[in-house]
Amino acid sequence: MLAELKRLVDLQELDKIIRGVTQGLERLPEELRAENAALEGMQAEHGAQAEELENLQKQRLDTEKEVAEMEEGIKTSRQRLMEIKSNIEYKAMLKEIAFKEDQRDHKETRVLELLELIGAQKEAMAEQDQKLKEQSELVATRSKEVEVEVAKLQAELAGLEKQRKELRKGIPAALLKRYEFIRQRRNGTAISPVHEGVCFGCHMNILPQQFIDLQKGLEIIQCPHCQRILYWQAEEETLEEDLSRSAS
Ligand SMILES: [Zn+2]
Repeated sequence: MLAELKRLVDLQELDKIIRGVTQGLERLPEELRAENAALEGMQAEHGAQAEELENLQKQRLDTEKEVAEMEEGIKTSRQRLMEIKSNIEYKAMLKEIAFKEDQRDHKETRVLELLELIGAQKEAMAEQDQKLKEQSELVATRSKEVEVEVAKLQAELAGLEKQRKELRKGIPAALLKRYEFIRQRRNGTAISPVHEGVCFGCHMNILPQQFIDLQKGLEIIQCPHCQRILYWQAEEETLEEDLSRSAS
């Protein structure tokens, strides 16, 4: 194989590792942002729940006050009942008292309903508190982890970039340009092995004459279908190595 082709294979392997590290560096803060957004959502939900609880408590106090006032009204009516002499007036007053008692009963039922709602709301809030606490802890732990992971990846990336720079020095500029051009259009794979006349980049047959030329190893040959730069390795074990490499 041409020496520059061999370097190009190494460069592609290195570029793939660099891409993985770069993606990790982008993904980690993104993950953390998502966890933080979830936490903020939970805090907002908690705030809304607290507001609703306050609203229910206020309704309860207001309704209890109304019940007390009604109780007072009923008491007054009962006292007036004693002073009434006329039978018709007495009956009318009894009716009025019954009506007021009915209204009071409704309000008392409402108080019980509100107490139930308040209880349920407190339970929901306790559950939300627990979730909030867990998410807070997760964000705190993850923040520290991400910080460590990012620092590690950045150090790794610096080392890889240095290697890459060295490797590129041994490859002619025109070939590097061609490599970058194809790499951008072929999802990071610009150079591909050929086995039994088949390009492993696109799994199609290259031309027979190309295959003969490729085996001679004297010039740079590109796949007529996917334009990837081709190299030939006959041995089975190296092929397997290449396959696992292109799979990663
Ligand atoms: Zn191809």
